[in-house]
Amino acid sequence: MKTIKTNVLLIHDLSLNYALMKKYTILILSILISGFNFDVWAQSTETVFHYSVMDAMRHGVYMGDLAVGKLRKKGDFGLGTFNHLDGEMVALDGIYYRVIPIGQVVQAEDDRKVPFAAVAQFTPDMVFEIDGDLTLARMQEEIVKRLPSFNKPFGIQIHGLMAEIQLGGALKLAENDTTGLAKLMETRPVYHVSGISGTLVGFYNPTFMDNIDLTPFHLHFISDDRSVGGHVISGRSGTTKIKVSVDTKVGYELLFPESSPRFQKEWNTGRASQSAY
Ligand SMILES: [Zn+2]
Repeated sequence: MKTIKTNVLLIHDLSLNYALMKKYTILILSILISGFNFDVWAQSTETVFHYSVMDAMRHGVYMGDLAVGKLRKKGDFGLGTFNHLDGEMVALDGIYYRVIPIGQVVQAEDDRKVPFAAVAQFTPDMVFEIDGDLTLARMQEEIVKRLPSFNKPFGIQIHGLMAEIQLGGALKLAENDTTGLAKLMETRPVYHVSGISGTLVGFYNPTFMDNIDLTPFHLHFISDDRSVGGHVISGRSGTTKIKVSVDTKVGYELLFPESSPRFQKEWNTGRASQSAY
């Protein structure tokens, strides 16, 4: 088994059932036995895998060393972006898409690298419908009402007709550009799409995750016909009901870039906690 030495943080819910506890006990033991060398690519279906943190992006760290082909081992759905913000990432049903300005969708190559991603294996344990003709904010309120916990992560897929949706795209930066996200958001491509059926893909993140990801929701969109996608800014559902699928997760696995020089430096430009891609 190939092992690599890396910076990894596992945050787990302590109320795991016995089977899970046994599994993670074995994982923890294997870490101790191998002197903190272990296979970080072993698949966990119960956690959200995070590569880097949103605060790194907020402070201009747009280069990572993780390729899509490897990220795929950690999840069949999720979101993120690509090195130097060369497109928004949406992953759904095992396919990783790159949304290029302004909104067009192509499949992401296995060797394309990412500076930030949140992915997981999606196995819904709760599926429900909510009324149509709701703003995105109201849809999110309806979802939060039904979640069994405020303080755990959940994988979320929302499928249905969107009467309108406002999406953010990404414009590729020069390789040495470290402008923070708050500044970039002033000029990011933003586009509106009307009457489109698709899936909002992403996560509910507890507010204590504020530095790691957007809270309480970070959602990207991809249309059923794969013609358009992007970071979800706002929207309103059509008059038909919307289907919501929720996957309860027990914790986060957080992996940091190893060779990104800027990631290693102190980020001293202050926080802009609501900026996100
Ligand atoms: Zn985003």
